[in-house]
Amino acid sequence: MILPLIKGLATTLRYCFSKPITLQYPEEKRTPYPRFRGHPELVINEDGTRRCVACTLCMVVCPSNAIKGIVPAEGPNHEKYPVQFIIDLTRCIFCGFCQEACPKAAIKLNNLYELAQYNKEVLILDIERATQKKPEMRAPDWL
Ligand code: SF4
Ligand code: SF4
Repeated sequence: MILPLIKGLATTLRYCFSKPITLQYPEEKRTPYPRFRGHPELVINEDGTRRCVACTLCMVVCPSNAIKGIVPAEGPNHEKYPVQFIIDLTRCIFCGFCQEACPKAAIKLNNLYELAQYNKEVLILDIERATQKKPEMRAPDWL
């Protein structure tokens, strides 16, 4: 009768002094695992230009029609680049197919996970908002 009670109290005491496995979110942020799949975004070169050549492969391969409205333009040396590129995060299922299909490694899934919004429109990214802004937030390449 008394032995189980002592065992129970001992267990409670042990957990009182052990390191907690929970985080005090949002004050404490979780570090995503290297292969975590956040949302897709357009990768920039060191000179700030986008790698994308507007081939539309990512748009074709996307199973949920989250990439749309890619409008290509041509530069002075006949290089192609997009002037419009829409990523609809309300449709994205974070599968990573776009990243796998891209021949230029121009679209990658980042490691951001705080995507909740009050306004759905905010989640429809135009080319400016879909372009990588904070390289330090990116997870290591995993493909
Ligand atoms: S991660 Fe998947 S669903 Fe999202 S844009 Fe890329 S291919 Fe489409
Ligand atoms: S992101 Fe890649 S696959 Fe998509 S249009 Fe640009 S170059 Fe093509």
